Amino acid sequence: MKPSPFDYHAPASAAEALELLGRYGADARLLAGGQSLVPLLNFRLSAPTVIVDLNRAADLAYIKEDGGRVRLGAMTRQRAIEFSPLVRGRLPLLAEATRWVGHLPTRTRGTVGGSLAHSDPAAEYPAVAAALDAELVIRGFAGERVVRAVEFFVGLMTTALQPDEMLVEVRMAAQAPGSGWAFEEFSRRHGDFAIVGIAATVAVEGDRCRSARLAACGAGPTAMRLRAAEEILEQGGAHDRHIDDAAARAAEIVDPSADLHASAEYRRHLTRVLTRRALKRAVERARNRENAHG
Ligand code: FAD
Repeated sequence: MKPSPFDYHAPASAAEALELLGRYGADARLLAGGQSLVPLLNFRLSAPTVIVDLNRAADLAYIKEDGGRVRLGAMTRQRAIEFSPLVRGRLPLLAEATRWVGHLPTRTRGTVGGSLAHSDPAAEYPAVAAALDAELVIRGFAGERVVRAVEFFVGLMTTALQPDEMLVEVRMAAQAPGSGWAFEEFSRRHGDFAIVGIAATVAVEGDRCRSARLAACGAGPTAMRLRAAEEILEQGGAHDRHIDDAAARAAEIVDPSADLHASAEYRRHLTRVLTRRALKRAVERARNRENAHG
């Protein structure tokens, strides 16, 4: 199949891309890595009359640290994230999850902005963004606004983006020194979308759990923060019995659907197993780092 006809623009900057979005609005679609959009175009599941190709907008691709936050330009390639020493040091959860995103060839073209804007419920990046309470910087004709990840993903493949808006940056606070993290996933083959994936970070102090952040992908219409499960650890501590209780609670609060890959019940079961596995690994990492720093 081939896409239906469209006018093609390749702006050299975010400002130029925004001007085009303002001119064409809902008739235009932004092209980033094309790893999701091009198949949709080819199958004519999306038929925009204008394509605004962001691949020449160099001002949208960067990884920077700024006052305890890591700032990722929307066009930052997943592969650049995978191999970034800054991401590995400040956002090890994002680095670990990236290895589950597709395959090396798709990560070479795929971008963080495209992954978040596409908002596939089984995508890893939205779950990591939710777990790390990322801020998404959106720019449109009405100006710029910052939206928390949990408010950005509003429904199945639907985000808070308006037709004339573009995601320009993702901001994530650097993970606290001494915190632990883990990304666990079950997919049919490595590189397939998650059947269920769990992102976890914890900060522990002796037996106390100072903070826990949990998010799921593949277990609801969007990436889901598992706040009720987090509270079990923050109120009770990071013992195995609290981890087991948090995993059971996570399985209760997700909202999985059934498809040809798995039943809803099986996704709940996976949520419980993977949450327990992710929390145990995250707590162990946090304990090891706590011991290492005395
Ligand atoms: P595109 O495909 O170019 O665009 C995706 C959507 O986002 C489009 O609607 C586009 O208009 C919009 N968009 C892009 N950039 C912006 C922006 N800055 N502002 C607003 N809207 C924007 N993904 C996973 O998460 N996990 C997987 O396991 C996985 N496996 C894959 C396996 C294969 C074989 C393939 C081909 C893809 C796979 N993917 C997977 C998808 C891949 O990660 C895509 O890169 C990602 O979903 C979209 O990123 P992109 O840069 O390619 O965006």
